[in-house]
Amino acid sequence: MRILVTNDDGIFSKGIIQLAKSMSRIGQVVVAAPDEERSAIGHAITLHKPLRIEPVKLPDVDVEAYSINGTPADCVKIGVDVIMKRKVDLVISGINRGPNLGTDVIYSGTVSAAIEGCILNIPSVAISLVSYKSDDFSYAGEVAVEVAQKLLEHGLPEGVLLNVNVPAVPKGEIKGIKVVRLGIRRYAETYIKRLDPRGKPYYWLTGEAIDATQEDMQLDTDIAAVNQNYVAITPIHLDLTFYSLMDTVTGWFKGQ
Ligand code: MN
Repeated sequence: MRILVTNDDGIFSKGIIQLAKSMSRIGQVVVAAPDEERSAIGHAITLHKPLRIEPVKLPDVDVEAYSINGTPADCVKIGVDVIMKRKVDLVISGINRGPNLGTDVIYSGTVSAAIEGCILNIPSVAISLVSYKSDDFSYAGEVAVEVAQKLLEHGLPEGVLLNVNVPAVPKGEIKGIKVVRLGIRRYAETYIKRLDPRGKPYYWLTGEAIDATQEDMQLDTDIAAVNQNYVAITPIHLDLTFYSLMDTVTGWFKGQ
């Protein structure tokens, strides 16, 4: 089995090194990842500058690895096409430092890499550790292997990928796996206004996610699940169409 491993935190981040190690247990791993952090880049691809593929040696793991001066989606596209010559059985992206929950999947480079795999018709997974501080990606690595094995055993319908979030608690405190829908992640954020050295104003987005409320915790969402120490798995479909409103909107334009 040939596995393409990528991420959005950059090729030398701890999470991807753990993921490469863990996935090596079940297949031949090729790492193709951004040369620097590209978190929150979404699904951007590079059209107006050349992409370079540099072979690199990753610490602590003996796999083929390439650093690319592009986005996570670029890395999957060029990784599948050029590096792996379209022989890829699984794309797995992560292990991200920090959660990718709810509406945040829209901004996420980690999830976008898996979406790109999905667009290319390859079974794809995004996996994140719900902590910006923890350095211990080992349990999330075990989860990655388990999810990949199940996915390859059972398959997925076209246009669907799996988004996985792993709580950053000791393995013994994990309550199990929950398959849940995406929640709505709210932020207390604000643009800080400052002046640059030439006296012109600039703005910098700052803030953090608002903790889930008691009400939020009752819902069957990824946010509630990880808060209760469950591994959250959400099947994500690429089709954003809201089918149940199509007839209504058609009605708006009747008789024109
Ligand atoms: Mn990231």
